[in-house]
Amino acid sequence: MRRKLAAGNWKMNGTMASGAELVALKDAHPAPSVDILICPPATMIAPMVWQARGSALAIGGQDCHAKVSGAHTGDISAAQLKDAGASHVILGHSERRTDHGETDALVQAKTEAAHAAGLIAVVCVGETLAQREAGETLAVVGAQLAGSLPDAATGADTVVAYEPVWAIGTGLTPTTAQIAEVHAAIRDGLTRRFGAAGGDFRILYGGSVKPSNAAEIFAVQDVDGALVGGASLKAADFSPIIAALEAA
Ligand code: PEP
Repeated sequence: MRRKLAAGNWKMNGTMASGAELVALKDAHPAPSVDILICPPATMIAPMVWQARGSALAIGGQDCHAKVSGAHTGDISAAQLKDAGASHVILGHSERRTDHGETDALVQAKTEAAHAAGLIAVVCVGETLAQREAGETLAVVGAQLAGSLPDAATGADTVVAYEPVWAIGTGLTPTTAQIAEVHAAIRDGLTRRFGAAGGDFRILYGGSVKPSNAAEIFAVQDVDGALVGGASLKAADFSPIIAALEAA
């Protein structure tokens, strides 16, 4: 049985005062039946690890460098995230792929670095609108998956997040049939590559998940949770999404 995961990506939002949202979330979910992860900006990881102590809430990073240390101004290593108390790191988010030109090969190297540091990697894949309209969705997602995951990945150290680029932050969501089609293709790709162990990987859906559509999305086969951006910033929005996942 794959344990479900509700993951929040705060992106470049929030300040130290946002710790109040984390505390509210912690109070609202003292004994959750799903995993809960918040990935705040890097400056807030250590204080939020402290605020989350004694709870089931995990704290993660939003990116890491592929190298352990060195002359890489402005970057952060997986080991530094681990040292700050993070347990997970999001890698290959479409905003990183677009804003920073991240390739599948780089995402794969970062995933290996995350694993070496003892972090769980949440590896993002997803098509653009133009790729979907050209009928390329499964080919694009399949290639990203193949190129971004290392051969040694397991369901214990790696989570896959399917995030259609056109659904992120837009309020648009794929139909449940479209989500089911891509998640089934991802599962198929995982089992073809990793054998039966491919069934251990959690596959999250991400892209404009909100309290009003969460239950419908979580009812889709092979959706093991969500990676949530905007609706994870406020406990009042994220909490009902967590509750919907618990009920699924
Ligand atoms: C994301 O950035 O990973 C995301 C899914 O954002 P949103 O929920 O705001 O669409």
